[in-house]
Amino acid sequence: MIEDLRLAIFTALARTGRMPSPETLREIAGDQLPDALRALAAARHLALENGTVALAHPFATRTFGFSVMSHDTLWWGGCAWDAFAIPHLVGTDALVATRCPTCDAALAWVVDRTAPPTGPAVAHFLVPLARMWDDVIHTCENQRLYCSAACIPDGPGTTLDLATLWRLASHWYDGRLERGYTRRDATAAKEYFRSVGLAGEFWGL
Ligand SMILES: [Zn+2]
Ligand SMILES: [Zn+2]
Repeated sequence: MIEDLRLAIFTALARTGRMPSPETLREIAGDQLPDALRALAAARHLALENGTVALAHPFATRTFGFSVMSHDTLWWGGCAWDAFAIPHLVGTDALVATRCPTCDAALAWVVDRTAPPTGPAVAHFLVPLARMWDDVIHTCENQRLYCSAACIPDGPGTTLDLATLWRLASHWYDGRLERGYTRRDATAAKEYFRSVGLAGEFWGL
């Protein structure tokens, strides 16, 4: 039942940008719904806020600062990584839009699966990999895109150019819309990060 619930949530979010109706969720999980959602959160398939789904990565159910718009669907992206991942996961090109958190400049890119967008914008991630799930909502809230390196705040974190962000996002969520999806273990995750050109302590490499 838990996998049915996970799949129903991810399928609806991918197809419509919205959660399944409460009735649909209750049809699947019945009285077990709160426990089943907690189990999915514990297994890091999603993140809850007050018992409801806030994030089912890469999808969000409220704004995290990123809209992702295809020709017929509008999604909330959970962060810079997630917003760039949605076009890859659902298999469409889309307009990813946000504001520079520092200077409020409007930023937008058409993200498709053929090549990374170009330009001076950079992503900044605050929380290192090893701590990303300590408070994943805080983590995603602090994975943003800035108009340029000059707007990135001083302090901890790592910076990615658009091409690296796009490669990171391109296959990270592969399989998530299929039954029986399992998350990468630590070794496979590190291998993936290395393959997209990441390095350093932030990524545990
Ligand atoms: Zn800026
Ligand atoms: Zn995220």
